[in-house]
Amino acid sequence: MTRSQILNQPRILTEVESKELLKQWGIPVVETKLAGTKKEAVSISKEIGFPVVLKIISPDVVHKSDSGGVRLGLANATQVSNAYSEIMSSMRQKYPQAAIQGVSVQPLARAGIEVIVGVSQDPQFGPVIMFGLGGVLVEVLKDVSFRIVPVTRRDAQEMIKEIKGYPVLEGYRVHEPANISALEELIVKVSRFIEQNPQIKELDLNPIFAYKDKAVAVDARIILEEG
Ligand code: ADP
Ligand code: MG
Repeated sequence: MTRSQILNQPRILTEVESKELLKQWGIPVVETKLAGTKKEAVSISKEIGFPVVLKIISPDVVHKSDSGGVRLGLANATQVSNAYSEIMSSMRQKYPQAAIQGVSVQPLARAGIEVIVGVSQDPQFGPVIMFGLGGVLVEVLKDVSFRIVPVTRRDAQEMIKEIKGYPVLEGYRVHEPANISALEELIVKVSRFIEQNPQIKELDLNPIFAYKDKAVAVDARIILEEG
């Protein structure tokens, strides 16, 4: 699919479509491919190299792991094949009506500091970018910062520094530090992407894995404006 074909459809883009679009805009995402069958999932896994991750791909399933739709760390063809069957059978149970395109296949990214970048629409200010640490810090503590699009490099730097969890990014205790300038760059690229594609209503990069040399999104979701 071309960029304009993807953007002309008013809907929630799947993880595969969202990542494809983000990649075209230079936003770093884990290499991700769609497999329509079990056989294809195995052959793509071999191409990518083990260990891999499989995730359900359906426009009707938004929270993939809540429904048994994510399998991490599959080490060989047998594990991929079994995981494919298990994902499909839990989908049949939980979402019998869901239109399923298949699974996404991607490398298992090594652990990093989990951060999130999101975009939502403010009725007064238009698109707003959010940054925060992933997991419990965002869900429970709501430790996030916001800026209105367009976001400059300086804005991005400030929004990263102003979260309470910033010491975690500096490598508090056991963690390797996050590359702050890679995160700034990612936020600025997201801002540019949103500015130039006003039909994007919402965007979620959750999580992004931050490392000492780079940052890469392992999950992505884009919602387009109706019509
Ligand atoms: P959901 O739709 O439930 O948000 P995600 O794609 O975010 O599904 O996957 C759930 C979790 O699995 C992520 O929060 C992350 O911790 C882990 N994960 C997802 N993709 C990868 C990957 N490619 N490598 C390593 N861990 C991953
Ligand atoms: Mg996610």
